[in-house]
Amino acid sequence: MRMYDLIEEKKLGHPLTSEEIEWFVASYTKGDIPDYQVSALLMAIYFQGMNNDETVTLTLAMAKSGDMLDLSKIDGIKVDKHSTGGVGDKTSLVVAPMVSALGVPVAKMSGRGLGHTGGTIDKLESFPGFSTSISEETFINNVNTIKIAIAGQTANLAPADKKLYALRDVTATVDQISLIASSIMSKKIASGANAIVLDVKTGSGAFMREEKEALKLARTMVEIGKGLGRETTAVISDMNQPLGFAVGNNLEVIEAINTLKGHGPADLLELCLTLGSHMTYFAKKANSIEEAREKLLKTIEDGSALEQLKRFVTAQGGDASYVDDTSKFPVASIIEEIVLDGEGFVDYIETEEIGFAAMMLGGGRETKDSVIDLSVGFIVHKKIGDKVNKGDSIATIYGNSKGQVDSATKRFVEAYSLSSEHKDKVKFIKEIVS
Ligand code: URA
Repeated sequence: MRMYDLIEEKKLGHPLTSEEIEWFVASYTKGDIPDYQVSALLMAIYFQGMNNDETVTLTLAMAKSGDMLDLSKIDGIKVDKHSTGGVGDKTSLVVAPMVSALGVPVAKMSGRGLGHTGGTIDKLESFPGFSTSISEETFINNVNTIKIAIAGQTANLAPADKKLYALRDVTATVDQISLIASSIMSKKIASGANAIVLDVKTGSGAFMREEKEALKLARTMVEIGKGLGRETTAVISDMNQPLGFAVGNNLEVIEAINTLKGHGPADLLELCLTLGSHMTYFAKKANSIEEAREKLLKTIEDGSALEQLKRFVTAQGGDASYVDDTSKFPVASIIEEIVLDGEGFVDYIETEEIGFAAMMLGGGRETKDSVIDLSVGFIVHKKIGDKVNKGDSIATIYGNSKGQVDSATKRFVEAYSLSSEHKDKVKFIKEIVS
């Protein structure tokens, strides 16, 4: 096969065959095809798109390019959950203990934060001693005994995707639905779950700003899941403002713990119940989504979800006493209130900027190797539709350097727009695709 022919075919808008896709993915991973030819193919795909069969084949070829986790030694139906990334998204920390309290085996591979979005692994490392670098044996054993384990993605998980993503990043070919969908799903397929629940975010803090695009991405990922024999559901949720009130690692962990204690923000709880009920239903631990939701609410009321969090933190070497006493988490040295000049109703929040402001405090990662400060961030007090009177604090900022606090405050303030008219609350769960 010649790469030239594949580029020519795709340039003319013809679909590639399975053999062609499998060949180019395997050869590129091995280093047998130069970047400039793969760049040309990616640009042809960007303009001509891929049909469903091509997208499914690409996904599987990337998944198979590295380790494929074998979860068959874990009893029950393994359900994975994935978020496309947002600001203040601590959903996994709440959902995983809740569903595992109902016996749903949670065998999850999670990532670190990059850019303006956070990552579950960083948040879990807020617990002193907690490790996500556990052996496959411990991972499987923990899921079988306590129903929950979360590990960092292994270096050899979908290496083809890693190489292709890096190339897309520098050739302006990231934002193509088939490429995004296959990239995300290749890692989920390689992670070995039987069923997948996707949280596709849309809005000013999301990768997919437009709801129409988020819906297309959701549909494509659900089709890929189906094509590869994994039951898949996608929930499209609003990311036009931070999820909950806390942004920043320790602050988000505390908010997640409070949610499991029964006093979490309404939007966060709603999203956790929606995602969790689909996971529980897929795992056959409830006969309907409604029944799953009720059972999940009970795990908060009876304290079993909170107990699960403690068991899980302990099993991975972390200090679970922080769950009972959240005042043990380190607090930043500078705590200030953020006040706007004007007054009115919050009309719009450029949420991505809130994520970048947290990054400026040292809470986010500019490169994969950046060391982050877990204690910094924001507690947001005013969200869309809320009235801001003169002198009201719209958020509390937590930082450890005066210079960083001043520039992050400026960025935070600029992200807010006020209007004299009250804006209705946005619809939070936009759609469910299954
Ligand atoms: N996240 C991924 O894993 N891949 C993409 O292409 C985009 C977001």
